[in-house]
Amino acid sequence: MDGILTTSSTQATAQVWLDDFNAALASGDVTRIATLIAEECHWRDILAFTWDLHTTSGADAIARRMVPTLAQMAPRGMTLASGRTSPRRVTRVGVDAIEAIFTFETSVGPCNGVVRLVAEHGTTRAWTLMTALDEIRGHEDPANGRRWQNVDWKRNFGGENWLDRRKKAQAYTDHDPAVLVVGAAQAGLCIAARLTLLGVDTLVVGREARIGDSWRRRYHALTLHNETRVNHLPYMPFPRSWPVFIPKDMLANWFEIYAEAMELNVWTQTELTGGDWDAAAQCWDVTLRRTDGTERRMRPRHIVFANGVSTTPITPDLPGLKDFRGTVRHSGDYGSGMDWQGKRALVLGTGTSGHDVAQDLCVSGAAEVTLIQRSPSLVVSLKEAQAPYALYDEDVPFEDLDLLAISFPFPIYRRSHQRITAMNREADRVLLEGLQRRGFRLYFGPEDTGWQIMYQQRGGGYYFDAGCSQMIVDGKIGLIQFDDIERFGTEGAVMKDGSVKPADLIVLATGYEGQAASARRLLGDEVADRMGKVWGFDAEGELQGMWRPTGQPGLWFLGGGLAQCRIFSKVLALQIKARELGITA
Ligand SMILES: Cc1cc2nc3c(=O)[nH]c(=O)nc-3n(C[C@H](O)[C@H](O)[C@H](O)COP(=O)(O)OP(=O)(O)OC[C@H]3O[C@@H](n4cnc5c(N)ncnc54)[C@H](O)[C@@H]3O)c2cc1C
Repeated sequence: MDGILTTSSTQATAQVWLDDFNAALASGDVTRIATLIAEECHWRDILAFTWDLHTTSGADAIARRMVPTLAQMAPRGMTLASGRTSPRRVTRVGVDAIEAIFTFETSVGPCNGVVRLVAEHGTTRAWTLMTALDEIRGHEDPANGRRWQNVDWKRNFGGENWLDRRKKAQAYTDHDPAVLVVGAAQAGLCIAARLTLLGVDTLVVGREARIGDSWRRRYHALTLHNETRVNHLPYMPFPRSWPVFIPKDMLANWFEIYAEAMELNVWTQTELTGGDWDAAAQCWDVTLRRTDGTERRMRPRHIVFANGVSTTPITPDLPGLKDFRGTVRHSGDYGSGMDWQGKRALVLGTGTSGHDVAQDLCVSGAAEVTLIQRSPSLVVSLKEAQAPYALYDEDVPFEDLDLLAISFPFPIYRRSHQRITAMNREADRVLLEGLQRRGFRLYFGPEDTGWQIMYQQRGGGYYFDAGCSQMIVDGKIGLIQFDDIERFGTEGAVMKDGSVKPADLIVLATGYEGQAASARRLLGDEVADRMGKVWGFDAEGELQGMWRPTGQPGLWFLGGGLAQCRIFSKVLALQIKARELGITA
């Protein structure tokens, strides 16, 4: 976000503010804390003060939220982080500030923070503040330079070797895991890796034949839409030789290598078919069914739904569609455009899948491809869509980038996305005007905040243009509006003007059911009503029910893009570990 300048005085300024902040926290005085905070200030806490994710705005409100936490959490020793990026002068969403990464301690363990300082009324005050629990003292992540010691058995020739232990751990013949993770793709693997390294016994189940099949099954032409440099899984970055955009099968194969290398316990071809919460025992009673028909009941204390936001297709009940004599497919089962050479296709939906399927059909030799637009959609060129990741271009270590990425409290995050969206619109002006001339209805997100906030609110509704938009502009791919369709008939779409748009194939690129809907189906209404909303923002701007407690004890959710899964799997793992240790309820 904007520019950067490093000077020596920034260090001193930042440390003075941190010293004052230490003293103010030690005093427990609301007014004293508030004087260190700018009139416009936003504080995001990630488990450090509040054991949850909270965003608070305004000096007085921030101080009032901090003070009641001080007795229990005892935050202290704020100091500039050694070995991390030094304080720098930056411009973030148009505001010049000193940005400093700091560390501190609480009664739970070491924490990290990011503060952005501005000059106000002749003093230095915080404009944004983020505080995050890093580790639980005494239960540190061994990946942080604390390699585990295997001296006890490495030369025990008569006993178990590593492979024996791995097989035993995977089999769960004589015990159940503490955590059952549902879904063996990026979200499931990330949380399993984090928990396993924290010493929490974790089993991942996935109903498909191979780890990564959720990606393999996607359409033939799919390549990731965001760049490799932001997509690493925790602990094991992709090889440096990998392409800028990873092809889907390459990613899927990496997931298998990852699970093996990170020593994760994964059962494939195993589906969670249902479960009940045993309140007396404070654990779940779940049924797992394998594709060979056998069942296993387990009593884990936690379930993490990593079941994907793109797993269960939504197939709308469209008038007359059952009369259509051609083939109807959801975009998730569409396969390859090569199967439809010389045929005519209608593709319903103008999100990423709809556009990608239409483009694939067209370049594969379909005779005629027409997109059907139901509601206005956001279109941004693939190049401009990388703008939210500009932070990852800054020349600082990767773990600092991940810390900075979560350091923008929601009001600043929203403002930043409004700026990015405005810049994208200008950069893509020729393309967008061309689309409008073809009748394409454009949208720029709620309050023009762009695609990333749309993803977090509704899981889609946008397209990163990888060539399809120009094909629409050039008339190679047709476009009709859903509102102009009367109904579907035997031959295709029957338009309100009486004409028929004929087709051999109708692809429903109509999206997927959310994670919460699957949880309701599997765990029942009582649990689902207790768990509350999942996904979408709460009043503070934090995602509801994602990587934080739901209303149902022992029920958690993780999902999203690769970067989100990497970053927030740590946040979720710390909360589960803390409950396993009895540190927090
Ligand atoms: C077309 C498309 C392109 C995308 N491109 C990108 C991109 O470029 N970059 C990016 O960061 N994100 C992208 N995403 C978004 C996101 O990264 C993917 O949807 C990703 O697959 C999500 O990973 P996940 O682990 O949350 O869930 P999924 O990959 O959906 O995996 C969930 C798994 O859980 C399994 N499962 C569900 N229910 C059960 C059950 N009851 N028992 C056992 N197993 C179960 C499913 O079978 C599935 O294998 C894209 C999504 C789509 C649809």
